[in-house]
Amino acid sequence: MKNVTLTIDGKEIKARAGEKVLWAALENGIYIPNLCAIKEKPEPNASCRLCWVEIEGRNGPVTACTEEVAEGMVVNTRGEKALGLARAGFELLMASHALDCAHCKANGSCELQKIAKVLKCSLKPRRLRVQLRNLPIDDSNPLFTYDPNKCVLCGRCVWECKKQKARALLGFAHRGFERRLTTFEDEPIGKDRCLECVECVKVCPTGALTPKS
Ligand code: SF4
Ligand code: SF4
Repeated sequence: MKNVTLTIDGKEIKARAGEKVLWAALENGIYIPNLCAIKEKPEPNASCRLCWVEIEGRNGPVTACTEEVAEGMVVNTRGEKALGLARAGFELLMASHALDCAHCKANGSCELQKIAKVLKCSLKPRRLRVQLRNLPIDDSNPLFTYDPNKCVLCGRCVWECKKQKARALLGFAHRGFERRLTTFEDEPIGKDRCLECVECVKVCPTGALTPKS
């Protein structure tokens, strides 16, 4: 496939025509905050609203996961408007997050911590009131624990789980504030089919799915 040349944060890079700006940046060592992006998924989820960038000639920031690269495109991932939108999206996410890094298994490898650092903002919301969901922790699986209060609804685990075909178990239920990751029958995650594979745990960017060993 044809390549195009574009500039991201002053760095000239080559990317496949049709590639999304997010992947072109990440593959060239330029980090743009993201949670719901899945490279192999044909259509981006575009639900986490974190990957805002500014593109020369555009009126406002765009999401890098939905924007295709183009010849001569000039992208700025550090523009104040883009960072402002990303910070607002992040704060919204953290307003329902059970923040307790000191006692969390993801501490140190958590993508939320990385994003807060990149955006130069606090993990704890400053402008929004924190409203926790206080959902029960599911400890029924012998291999991993599921804490829905730390889930950011990115969908990475659901995508991985779907690959297990007949054994697939995970999906989203409810809407808005009530939306959460669950099993199709809303049964404990340790039941029946889900006793060998920990692919979902491997892709979880937070402390929502954590291994027991
Ligand atoms: S998921 Fe990340 S941000 Fe949340 S408590 Fe755990 S380490 Fe901290
Ligand atoms: S459990 Fe983890 S991977 Fe699954 S949706 Fe929540 S944060 Fe994303």
